[in-house]
Order: sequence, then C-alpha cells, then structure tokens
Amino acid sequence: MILDLRKAFITNEYSAPVEYKLDLSDVEYSGVFPLKQPISVVGEVANNAGVVTLSIHYSVCYEAPCDRCGELSAEVIDVDITHILATNIENEDNDDIILVADMELNLDELCRNDVLLHIPMKHLCRKNCKGMCSVCGKNLNDGECDCIKKEIDPRLQALADLLN
Ligand SMILES: [Zn+2]
Ligand SMILES: [Zn+2]
Repeated sequence: MILDLRKAFITNEYSAPVEYKLDLSDVEYSGVFPLKQPISVVGEVANNAGVVTLSIHYSVCYEAPCDRCGELSAEVIDVDITHILATNIENEDNDDIILVADMELNLDELCRNDVLLHIPMKHLCRKNCKGMCSVCGKNLNDGECDCIKKEIDPRLQALADLLN
C-alpha cells in the first residue's frame, strides 16, 4: 500500500487514520512460517506544528514450535512505533527520520521492516517451559520421565557391576 502524504505535509494540525492488514505469510524462520495470520496495522499520520509523524500499533500473531519443548504455540506480540517523516534530511546519520522525498510512503516495506525487527529471537510456549528430556524426548511440561532416576554416575556404575 502506498500512503499519499501530500495532505499531511501541507496541512498544519492534520491527522488521518491508517488501518490495514499486512501479509507476511512468506516470512520463513528455520523452516517454519510463523506469521501465517495477517498482521493488524492500526495507526495515524499526523502533522503537529509542521512535524509529520506516523504512529503505528502492530498486533502480530506469531506461531512456531517452542524453542525448548518443540510444541507448536502461538503468542500475540504488540509493537508500538512512531516514525518521523521528512521530505529532506539535513543530518543523514539520523536513522529515526524516514525520508519521503516524493511525499509517498511504501507502507508495506516500512511495516515489514518494523515487524521483522521486533519479533523476539526466543519463542517459548510458556515462560517456565521445562523443555524435553534429552534422553527419551518426553515433553517435561506433561510430567517428569524416569530418565533422571535411572541415570547413574559411571563411576558408581562400575562399583555396582563389581558388587553384582
Ligand atoms: Zn515449551
Ligand atoms: Zn526422559
């Protein structure tokens, strides 16, 4: 979606809502596509005393296997970002300002970058996920397995063999 910003730049005390769904179902992370649900983008373009801003609230449904137990789980990530828009930039090093020389903004590109930058690297099904047993592969959130009890120190195992 291309956002026409002409009105926003020439009208002081301007504000207009922005609302659409962003499709990022093609985004892949290690073999899974975690953003199957369209991302809700709700925001506002505003001109306050000549400063044009774009504030956006993203509601992202992220569905992927848990990093610890492998169970598929979904979480909703809320991200709020405000961009300052300008038709020319005096200080090129200023990353906070987005240059829109022709007063048109490619919203898809901007939103895609915003979302991808704010997706957490870690994804757990729950805060205190116990993970899975490295020996039998059981999901330890469902209860303990017997592996821990059976595991015997190899030195003690030698002793046990002697006694037998
Ligand atoms: Zn988990
Ligand atoms: Zn086990």
